[in-house]
Amino acid sequence: MLRRMFFLCVSLLLATAAGADSATETERDPPTLPVVVAPGQGARPPADAIVLFDGTDLSAWRHLDGRPAEWEVADGAMTVKPRSGGIVTSAEFADVQLHVEFCSPESDHDTGQGRGNSGVYLQGRYEVQVLDSYQNETYPNGQCGAVYGQHAPLVNVCRPPGQWQTYDIVFHPPAFDRGGKRLRPGVITVFHNGVLVQDNVTVEGDTTASPIKEGPGDGPLYLQDHGDLVRYRNIWIRRLPPASPAPAPGMDGE
Ligand code: MG
Repeated sequence: MLRRMFFLCVSLLLATAAGADSATETERDPPTLPVVVAPGQGARPPADAIVLFDGTDLSAWRHLDGRPAEWEVADGAMTVKPRSGGIVTSAEFADVQLHVEFCSPESDHDTGQGRGNSGVYLQGRYEVQVLDSYQNETYPNGQCGAVYGQHAPLVNVCRPPGQWQTYDIVFHPPAFDRGGKRLRPGVITVFHNGVLVQDNVTVEGDTTASPIKEGPGDGPLYLQDHGDLVRYRNIWIRRLPPASPAPAPGMDGE
């Protein structure tokens, strides 16, 4: 009898401990379960991505002045049409995860900033530089993977021209007060060919030659025409929640 009571007590204690554990887990967890998203595979994007270019047409894009995008589409890729101008998405974005693939032209034998130059501009304001930086020297914050003019990439992981490369970018825009005063800068993280090259860096204002100046409001994705035959393919984007709550209106700007 005593032995049975002992085991009963031990069982009760264990059950209570387990209950306490699960209560702690419950409190620690968010109130709702994360949404289920089917992951991408190969060139296929994740299920919740907005596909901006799937290799077939430029219907999601236009030139800044509203003309239909004139860049050439062939073999599942778009190619910059030199001097036609950069192209922007019709859709505008705030916080995003972006996937872009690009390929530098093998025919370009210029040096420095003249070789395979283009750019991926978040909100049309902040350029992640596209350049053929394979055995091609230029200033650090102007090379491939740079936040142009502001942050050099951590490493140079450029593939040779003619090979496809990837950018995976996470961007959180700046926050502004009601008067348009910036409360905190935007931040960018970039993986180039799967390697971290920008680690949550702060972006101090729009980058050089950005078609849209820094300010409140969403903005389109912009691809730069720098006169070089850079190709792009498999462009998709996911809208993200803000990294942290926006500062309360009325807070002092910096
Ligand atoms: Mg550029």
